[in-house]
Amino acid sequence: MRALRLHGAKDLRLEEVPEPELRPGTVKIKVEWAGICGTDLHNYTHPMVPDDYIHPLFGEHGPHVQGHEFSGRITAVADDVPDLPVGALVAVEPLMSDGTCPACLRGDYNLCESFGFVGIMGGGGGMSEYVVVPGHRIHLIPEGISAETAALIEPLSVAWHAVRRSGLQPGDSAVVIGAGPIGLGLLMAAKAQGAGFVAVSEVSAARKRLASQFGADAVFDPTRDDVAARVHAAVPGGVRASFEASGAGTPAVQALLGVLAKGGTAITVASGHPAEFDPNALMTTEINYTGSFGYNASDFPGVIEAIRDGRIRPDALVTSRISLEDAQQQGYEALLNHGDAQVKVLVHP
Ligand SMILES: [Zn+2]
Repeated sequence: MRALRLHGAKDLRLEEVPEPELRPGTVKIKVEWAGICGTDLHNYTHPMVPDDYIHPLFGEHGPHVQGHEFSGRITAVADDVPDLPVGALVAVEPLMSDGTCPACLRGDYNLCESFGFVGIMGGGGGMSEYVVVPGHRIHLIPEGISAETAALIEPLSVAWHAVRRSGLQPGDSAVVIGAGPIGLGLLMAAKAQGAGFVAVSEVSAARKRLASQFGADAVFDPTRDDVAARVHAAVPGGVRASFEASGAGTPAVQALLGVLAKGGTAITVASGHPAEFDPNALMTTEINYTGSFGYNASDFPGVIEAIRDGRIRPDALVTSRISLEDAQQQGYEALLNHGDAQVKVLVHP
C-alpha cells in the first residue's frame, strides 16, 4: 500500500510499504480522510522521535507513517473484538496509553506516563491506505455524519476536553484566544456545552470571519484592540473561562488572564512560545490557571453526539481537500507558508 512516511526534518516520502496485519484486539481500517494539524507541522520541521527510537507501546522504529486525525471504514476485525461491523465508518482515537500507570488507573489516560500517538510515534497513521489500531480506540460514526466530518472529531475532542476541564456552566461567558482549528473548535465546544457570550481574539481576517460564522458573539483583533478592556466592557467583571490556542507567548497569556473574572479559569490548550506571567495575579484573584492535553473517555463520544444533534456543525473548518501525492506541497508546506489562508487540510489516501 502507499504511505506517507517521515524520514527526517521536511523529508516526507510517499512510499510503497506492506499492509499492516490484524493482531488480537485490533481492527483494520481503510482510511477515508486524514487531517493535518499544528502538531504534524511541528513534527515535520522538528521530528519528535528519531528514527532509531522505539516507543514502548508501538515497538517499532521509524520512519513512521504520519497522520493522527483520521476516519475510515473497517475492513477486518480480530476475533476477540466485539461489536465492530466490517464496513462501518469510524473515527480513530489515536492517543495510546499503557493502561497500568496511576493516571491510566484513575481514567486520565491522556496523562499516561508512556502515552503515544498513532501517526507520530509509530503504529501506522492516517496518511496511508490502511491502518491497524486497537478496537477499544475506535468510535462508530452514526448515520448522517460524513467521513470528512468524522476526520474532524479528533481535533474537536481536544477542544471538547479543554472546555470540560474549565468547569464552564450553561450561560457562562468565555474567551478564546486564537482562531485556528483548535480555537474554532473551542468556540464550537463552548457553545455546544451551553456557553453564553463567547468572544474570540484573532489576527487573521479569514479566521476572524470563520469565528463569526461559527457563532462568536464578538471578535477582537489583538493588534488593534485592548482585548482585556473590550471583554470587560462587554462582560462587566470579566468572563468565567478563557482558552489560549494561539501559542503567541506573553501577550496571549496576558490577555488570557486579563479577560477573566475573579475566580475564573484560564486554560492553555496550544503549545507555542514560552511566556512570562506574574503568579501574584493568581493570588489576589483566585484565578485557576491550568492546561489541557488531548482527550479521554467521554470526549470523542461527546463530540460525536454534539455533531449528530447539530450543536456542532464543523464542516466549514475544512478549507482544502487533497490527495496523498499532494500532501507535502499542498498540505504541510502550504500550511507552513500560507497557514492563515487555511484552517483544516484533509488528505484522501
Ligand atoms: Zn498509563
